[in-house]
Amino acid sequence: MERVSLEENSRIIDIEKLDFEENAENSLRPALWEEYIGQEKIKKNLKVFIQASKKRGECLDHTLFFGPPGLGKTTLSHIIANEMAANIRVTAAPMIEKAGDLAAIMTNLNDGDILFIDEIHRLSPAIEEILYPAMEDFRLDIIIGSGPAAQTVKIDLPKFTLIGATTRAGMLSNPLRDRFGMSFRMQFYEVGELALIAQKASLKLGKPLDEEGAKEIASRSRGTPRITLRLLRRVRDFAEVAEKKTIDLKITKYALNELGVNEFGFDELDLRYLKILSETKGKPIGLSTIAAAMSEDEGTIEDVIEPYLLANGYLERTAKGRIATYKTYEILNIKMNQKGLL
Ligand code: ADP
Repeated sequence: MERVSLEENSRIIDIEKLDFEENAENSLRPALWEEYIGQEKIKKNLKVFIQASKKRGECLDHTLFFGPPGLGKTTLSHIIANEMAANIRVTAAPMIEKAGDLAAIMTNLNDGDILFIDEIHRLSPAIEEILYPAMEDFRLDIIIGSGPAAQTVKIDLPKFTLIGATTRAGMLSNPLRDRFGMSFRMQFYEVGELALIAQKASLKLGKPLDEEGAKEIASRSRGTPRITLRLLRRVRDFAEVAEKKTIDLKITKYALNELGVNEFGFDELDLRYLKILSETKGKPIGLSTIAAAMSEDEGTIEDVIEPYLLANGYLERTAKGRIATYKTYEILNIKMNQKGLL
């Protein structure tokens, strides 16, 4: 059984994958379209493009998925590989430090393979330069040596599909973004979709979750399957200790409260963020000020805390900074009169 870290900074509803979760996630990762719930528009389009490229006997166009962590970008890439009957190589930008790292990965690909690069916005400009001809002409231009003796060596690559995933489309350079034939924005999931994901996963875990319990977990998951599955695994532990055959609403509520996940799926970090936002008396506040007040880095706030709050109307982003909305005050139980704050 994997452990829940009790370090001060760890969040049960963190959307980033926790270190020990790799295996747990892989065992619950859908491999087929039928098991992949939601994101209907993306699925519909992808199915067409996959069918068309299979008919032509070609690789799928390079594809970019963007959106907050935990929404199923890696999973989709595996399903695409499955559908294309292709091998998939999975890597992440921080692991590609030198030109040689990327060259080694690419020269080891076979015709039709899929190369998945997570956090693709974190590639250094020098590595991006190498990617351009690789994506466009399936060619590597490697410079050997320096100064007047420098030589460019061209290496032909097999035809492959690059799938890039990023939490921040805005941080991708234009030339790189332009080289993706398709790009898809992942959406947060509805409660009903997450409940279905939880129920299906509970069967795989051998501890069925009833409908009400599933809804309860789903509504506290910030629209994110990764959180749903993590909460499910923890709730299952409580159910196991209580010797329950199925996971019902009562044990679910008990477990979630014990875990400190409130009924909106907000934890202490979100509430701290919202509190800071609410204390400006309606004035916009900059990201750096919020980050300093929370002792968190700006990236975490932008990628991890804000997207869900933004998508659900708990904050507004303006050119001058972040502003609280009536929902912010509502959730913090601050009363407003019609003119503004009381
Ligand atoms: P991302 O790559 O966007 O960070 P992942 O693909 O790793 O997210 O998904 C996180 C977890 O959520 C995985 O365990 C995966 O099985 C599950 N998951 C994501 N999307 C779906 C979905 N649409 N249906 C079922 N499970 C999903």
